[in-house]
Amino acid sequence: MYVDGRWVEAQSGKTYALPNPATEAIVAEAPDASREDMRAAIAAARKAFDEGPWRKSTPGDRRQVLLKIADELERRKEEVRSLLVAAAGAEYVTHLIQIDRPIELLRLYADLALRFEFETMLPVVPVPTAMGIVAGNSMAVHQPVGVCGLIPTWNFPLFVSVQKLGPAIATGNTMVFKPSPYMPLIDLLLAEILEGCDLPRGVYNVVTGQSAELGAELVESPMVDKISFTGSVATGKRIMEAASRTLKRIHLELGGKSATLILDDANLDEAVGASSSPAFFHAGQGCAICTRILVPENKHDDLLERMAAFIQMAVKIGDPADPSVMLGPVIREERRLKIEEYVESGRREGAQLIIGGGRPKDLGKGYFLEPTVFGQVRNDMTIAREEIFGPVASVLPYRSEDEAIRIANESSYGLGGAILTKDTLRAIEIAKQIRTGTVGINGAFNLFGPFGGFKQSGIGREGGMWGMHEYTEVQTVAWTS
Ligand code: NAD
Repeated sequence: MYVDGRWVEAQSGKTYALPNPATEAIVAEAPDASREDMRAAIAAARKAFDEGPWRKSTPGDRRQVLLKIADELERRKEEVRSLLVAAAGAEYVTHLIQIDRPIELLRLYADLALRFEFETMLPVVPVPTAMGIVAGNSMAVHQPVGVCGLIPTWNFPLFVSVQKLGPAIATGNTMVFKPSPYMPLIDLLLAEILEGCDLPRGVYNVVTGQSAELGAELVESPMVDKISFTGSVATGKRIMEAASRTLKRIHLELGGKSATLILDDANLDEAVGASSSPAFFHAGQGCAICTRILVPENKHDDLLERMAAFIQMAVKIGDPADPSVMLGPVIREERRLKIEEYVESGRREGAQLIIGGGRPKDLGKGYFLEPTVFGQVRNDMTIAREEIFGPVASVLPYRSEDEAIRIANESSYGLGGAILTKDTLRAIEIAKQIRTGTVGINGAFNLFGPFGGFKQSGIGREGGMWGMHEYTEVQTVAWTS
């Protein structure tokens, strides 16, 4: 682990094994830390923030750090790719988001370090004094929040970590990363890169381990000013509750149950790939993947037929080390078992299983599942309400546009959404009625825009300027002249 500018083992000396989800072979061992290790990292980050030279760093210094990380990632791209394939089961079709976009994002944050208005002059106001009316000057100052506890997740590990690292560095914070127990290797690789960036010690720390206590220590510690967490709603709620005791700033990027609205004028041939994507894109392990597909009632059977044919023809299942594989394994056996429970609930509650539903017969090792599609799904079924995080798509028939919008919004989640149609202007009007953080029309998606959730999908926004604001506290400094 990387703590206070040094590489350390867990104080207990313990490690744990990280399996390749496709082969079950051990990829690496990582230190299995405890609360003591976490406390040491928090203390280092606190000291670096309160007393170290980092506080005096300029936006230009921080820009250089971010550009250097981006350049190093670019140089070590094949190493990053191997790690993601072997330890996160990242299929090649996901690599644009897994690898290329995070590098671009780092360069964007480097640019924002210079463009962000750290000081904004406010309008002059009249201030009555004993000497008469004088000019009241003031400015809004954006200070760094302080020590940030950053808890990313494993599905797009570099992307998720960069969305925290980029703005945290650009705005001058110090940080402790607590990676997912499933995928700590990317944050350790980032530590190697940051070690070469001449950062003052304690600015960037990584503590790895299996126990939920590590994250809990970060959330409970009075020395931590902010938590940014990406993960499930259940853990997000626990974090919000625990953070209230110290009134920590919290940023939560949580799950989703997003809907694709196929409008009546959409071309079904074009819609079929996007509709089937939850059943294969990174094995459905994406927070904003549209897992509820809403289709006009009279096109329901036709769409299902096409989806089954598409999956049989185009979706190759196997080890993501093979670039032609579209559907790799899910991350762990425990997650596979949970997904299978959802598939069972779909069957039990009367959804129509169109394809899949089991494990591929020819793959003895690895946590694989067949791409699975349910038809005739009602929005009150468990598979339509809960996030499955596996290769399972649910198709729901609707009778009118209003009903489609109502079904899309009838969810405790509010993360993503999609509209497929020939009429973009109509889609924009519909998008404005959807209560989710993003809506993509005909596959469009801006990874540099604000990203986050309405309702129980989270609090706060990552991405671009919005991400920068999450890592600052605003202060008003006033004076008279
Ligand atoms: P999870 O909720 O299982 O998170 C596990 C992480 O939380 C681990 O690091 C664990 O150690 C830590 N943790 C557990 N209890 C804790 C506590 N009490 N205090 C602090 N930390 C604690 O989620 P996951 O499986 O890692 O991630 C999958 C979820 O992430 C899905 O719901 C997915 O939708 C969501 N996700 C959201 C986004 C987004 O940007 N909105 C992006 C990717 C994934």
